[in-house]
Amino acid sequence: MSDDTLFAKIVRKEIPSDMVYQDDLVTAFRDISPAAPTHILIVPNKIIPTVDDVEAEDELALGRMFTVAKKLARDEGIAADGYRLIVNCRDHGGQEVYHIHMHLVGGRPLGPMMRRG
Ligand code: AMP
Repeated sequence: MSDDTLFAKIVRKEIPSDMVYQDDLVTAFRDISPAAPTHILIVPNKIIPTVDDVEAEDELALGRMFTVAKKLARDEGIAADGYRLIVNCRDHGGQEVYHIHMHLVGGRPLGPMMRRG
């Protein structure tokens, strides 16, 4: 599998980011183009291109993404008001970077989940 995604380079600290968390399984850093006061991306350290590529062996890392999202939301002071977690998949999902990532977005009311119709 390629080790050459943009986010893999961030995980390996080969390119700069505003990293807020890293452990053996996942890394979190601020989105370069934030859509809300808090906008953090949480990625597995292992390259998994899309949700469609997830395997059972990835469950620990994918679960860790949620526990880290909870921790970071508390750290950011947005847990009580609430926030949104988003994972886009491929073209129709609007995925731009093919290394699975969870968007942690909050700090203001986010409105409806998506436009209907
Ligand atoms: P997605 O559309 O779900 O693939 O989201 C990709 C996200 O990555 C977008 O919100 C971008 O703003 C963000 N992004 C792209 N390049 C970088 C970077 N170098 N550092 C941090 N975030 C980035």
